Amino acid sequence: MAEPKENVLMEKIVSLCKRRGFIFQSSEIYGGINGFWDYGPLGAELKRNVKELWWNTMTRQRDDVAGLEATIIMSPQIWKASGHVDTFSDPMCDCKGCKKRFRADQIEPSSGVVFHFYGAEDRSMNKALLDQLLADKSEEEQRKGKERYLELLKEERDADILKEELETHLRSGIPEVRDAAADKLRQLDSLERCTEHFAVLLPHGKPRESAEKKASVFFQQKGIKVPRFSAVRTENVENTVSYCNDCGCELTAPRPFNLMFKTYVGPVESEDNVAYLRPETAQAIFAQFKNVLETSRQRVPFGIAQVGKAFRNEVTPRNYTFRSREFEQMELEFFIKPDEVVEAIKGRVTPGAELDTRHPALDTSSWGWEAWHKYWVEQRIAFYEGIGLSRATLEEYWQKPEELAHYARACVDILFKFPFGTQELEGIAARSDFDLSQHARFSGKPMGVFDEELRAAWGKLPKEKSDDLWRRYYENRKKYLVKMGVEAEQAAKDATNDANGLAKGQYIPHVIEPSAGVDRLILALICNAYSEVTETDDKGKSETTVVMKFHPRVAPIKVGVMPLLKNKPELVKKAQEVRDLLRPWMNVFYDDAGSIGRRYARQDEAGTPFCVTIDFDTLGEKPELKDTVTIRYRDDGKQERLAIGELLNWLLPKIR
Ligand code: ATP
Repeated sequence: MAEPKENVLMEKIVSLCKRRGFIFQSSEIYGGINGFWDYGPLGAELKRNVKELWWNTMTRQRDDVAGLEATIIMSPQIWKASGHVDTFSDPMCDCKGCKKRFRADQIEPSSGVVFHFYGAEDRSMNKALLDQLLADKSEEEQRKGKERYLELLKEERDADILKEELETHLRSGIPEVRDAAADKLRQLDSLERCTEHFAVLLPHGKPRESAEKKASVFFQQKGIKVPRFSAVRTENVENTVSYCNDCGCELTAPRPFNLMFKTYVGPVESEDNVAYLRPETAQAIFAQFKNVLETSRQRVPFGIAQVGKAFRNEVTPRNYTFRSREFEQMELEFFIKPDEVVEAIKGRVTPGAELDTRHPALDTSSWGWEAWHKYWVEQRIAFYEGIGLSRATLEEYWQKPEELAHYARACVDILFKFPFGTQELEGIAARSDFDLSQHARFSGKPMGVFDEELRAAWGKLPKEKSDDLWRRYYENRKKYLVKMGVEAEQAAKDATNDANGLAKGQYIPHVIEPSAGVDRLILALICNAYSEVTETDDKGKSETTVVMKFHPRVAPIKVGVMPLLKNKPELVKKAQEVRDLLRPWMNVFYDDAGSIGRRYARQDEAGTPFCVTIDFDTLGEKPELKDTVTIRYRDDGKQERLAIGELLNWLLPKIR
């Protein structure tokens, strides 16, 4: 089995996805739209399976997680509270030449010679002004003036000459001439010159003209019709990231670029009506925290899960669907007690290192944030393993303290080894009580919970212990408030109130957030499934076919059902019976077109794990095989016989 080289591999995957209907470019008939992708028939099934498996694993198969389905457009206050309005941005640079936009952190360093152009003046404009200037002179005077002008133009001093001319006119006894000259001098200063700096990086050995050409275009765009550069300087540079990777022209300084798509709610396009397409699904969960808590009869620790669309106006969408502008997320916010609360109730917090969270003890009551965080990392990796991404294809990246958001205590990225590099599939963050606290402050609605166990336990704590817990809780709250810009005295007052709440059984839950992208997972599953088989026939002719080795749980089609021949009505009838038997339970593809080998190959490419063939033995040609079918396995091509009556029970555990 051949393993195609990485870059070629990605091209093959993209082409297969289009050919077999996994993924299409959005709006393809109009040339596409960058960063947007559609899922074709097979892709739509794959995606649906992945979302359903996530939903089942995270909500239905647990007692402690409830679901939510919120709107995409929400109150813009949500994005102010979450920090997205102020800080959800990438630093971005524009190329002054080709106008392409780049993420500042994605510019490749380059070396060579930089040509600096310190402004330019317009020769054509100078000439036009001179013509006007001479317009009221005699023919002879004009001829002489022009000749002199053109002479001096060759010496590249045209602006100076003009100025000289104009300055003599300023001394004219006729007021109209003086005014016109003053006017033209002003034009000369403002219109004819561009003093902006522009620079081009050329690889060593490339001719200077190439830089001048680019600089001419730049100054022409600034209104200088026939530019003459005021001054040029060259400089050797190494590994600079200040120049365009495509054309070598200078980049603007990095500026923050907000990634949220803006729109207006209602008919009036005013600032008061601005709204955003959500850049993540998580914030709705925080905003609805109280409603879910009250209606689901959950108690902390518990989670709220949501699957849905998110939108980010990514500066440089790339790597196929990996970084898209419209995508889907599967997010869980798992609310937990702050460590001080756990300690007050249980006497201690189980250190994360002590836990084997793959086999968690039934009693999680002494788990603090560290244990829950570790638990969710393991749960999520187990989920990926359960749908065919082995641990060997994944990596855990524990963010370093300096990489963490100020409110986060830890964050682990689960990375997948894509053909274009090892990149993030999901982030699992311990986000403290930041999100609920922010929404409490911005909405004015309390986001804390009441815990009778805490209230009862607090009353029984030795004073030394309760003082210690009080102080730790107070310090954390104050630190958060000060960080958010609350004035020190007020922050101390508010933090005191919050810490006093502990004695009454009140606290703001902390949260662990496993946040996964559906589209990145689909791409990972497709890359992981892709394999090629080359077979050589008796005549030495070899053929390579693609087998998409999806785990049966995610495979778009679970089973292909095929009559051996399509022109034998008994075979067709029986095959249709088998199809109808399975169809209520799974996605079945009925195929009677072409040779059986071709039909198998088609299903291999679609990633169908099993094919069922109805042949003459099924009809009873060999009586002992009556009502049995052939099951063919996609991955090794092996076949075995199975009674039709057993088929459903045989298939179901494999695909669920
Ligand atoms: P990145 O650093 O790659 O931009 P992120 O850390 O900003 O990702 P999060 O905000 O943590 O991503 O979003 C959670 C998950 O949502 C990511 O792990 C990823 O799977 C998915 N995701 C985020 N941005 C995109 C995107 N532009 N296209 C597809 N999926 C995305």
